[in-house]
Amino acid sequence: MIFSLSSRILRTVDPVCLAKIGWNFGFKGARSVMMFKKRFDTTGEVFPPFLYLSILNSCNLRCQGCWVDVDKPRESMNLDELNKIVHDAKRRGNAFFGVLGGEPFMHPELFDFLATHPDCYFQIFTNGQMITPKAAETLRKLGNATPLVSVEGTSTVSNERRGGKDVLNRTLRGLQNCLDARLMTGVATSLCQTNIDDLLTKEWLQKLIDMGVHYTWYHTYRPVGPQINEQLALSPEQITQVRRFVTSMRATMPIAIVDAYYDHNGKALCPMATGISHHIGPTGGVEPCPIIQFATDSVRTDRDLFDVLTGSAFLKDFRETAAKHTRGCIVLERPDLVKSLAERHGAKDTTIRQAAFAEVSRMQPRTSQWREEEEIPEQHWMYKVAKRFFYNDFGVYRELDPAAHSPGK
Ligand code: SF4
Repeated sequence: MIFSLSSRILRTVDPVCLAKIGWNFGFKGARSVMMFKKRFDTTGEVFPPFLYLSILNSCNLRCQGCWVDVDKPRESMNLDELNKIVHDAKRRGNAFFGVLGGEPFMHPELFDFLATHPDCYFQIFTNGQMITPKAAETLRKLGNATPLVSVEGTSTVSNERRGGKDVLNRTLRGLQNCLDARLMTGVATSLCQTNIDDLLTKEWLQKLIDMGVHYTWYHTYRPVGPQINEQLALSPEQITQVRRFVTSMRATMPIAIVDAYYDHNGKALCPMATGISHHIGPTGGVEPCPIIQFATDSVRTDRDLFDVLTGSAFLKDFRETAAKHTRGCIVLERPDLVKSLAERHGAKDTTIRQAAFAEVSRMQPRTSQWREEEEIPEQHWMYKVAKRFFYNDFGVYRELDPAAHSPGK
């Protein structure tokens, strides 16, 4: 698998893009994780190596289960605000940033932002519909960004799930423009009842490979936000089915498969609780993660971002409370704790619709990625090594899961 995947990447990705992903993401990304870990072990300070920035709320689609205020008047972080975040984070060794929305390609300063930081790497979460050949060519010249294009199902399902017409074709056109421009390109899917049978298949992965896609990311649908569509959420058995599929396909198919919810032993984890990532919303609020729309801190300050994040009692309490109660998703499993944490810290509802407290109060607890009896370790050595050293729980579940922390685990 490794040889065919790497030779495919070397043959189909522009050399400048290759160099940037190798150095800015590969080397500097790994170094930022080691610095995060050392800082945590020596001072207890948590400054995430991976920050996710929702640069605006606007979007041209209306997806079921989207927690962003896509239909509300535009809120966005401007170029100066975005640059300050990255400059402050770079001083602490960070080099990788996730760029989300809404639809990031609707932000008029996106390319200026990317161009300001040639020494960083950006993963852009997009529906692909605004990626013209010209936009893709600009990304190629910059070389420091990978588009992660979301595909949510067949043509019919895509129109239904995303509230538009001809949705799939328009997304695939944008995707093709990325591949034609020789960008490192990924496809993401939020797995749910209406697409799991079509997209969690070897045939779909083969189709992505035949298209020239380099990596894929299977998210699991989270029933949150103004219209939760609970019926779309996966069952506990399907959550395990996804994990089993991913670990076996990683060992055989020449396409990289990303996940953020398991370590090398298949033990569940939450990127927020481990401190490896936090989120900054379109109104500048510093949130534990994208679906936890509460904040006590903002980036709209002269304070250094490091001081804002490491000084946040809210973020610290959120991480520690989550790690005490679950290896999975505190939002899905314990929405009551999310509400009480926000109330305890007097956190602000960061939604434009001002409905986050009402929404979390309505949520019913459900199973998330933590299925203790169903832990499926990585099969392929590359993923085992990468996670063993650069993506695990960093010891935060010591209290909840002491066995997982006995020597040699
Ligand atoms: S709280 Fe849930 S959605 Fe947020 S990072 Fe953790 S697992 Fe993911």
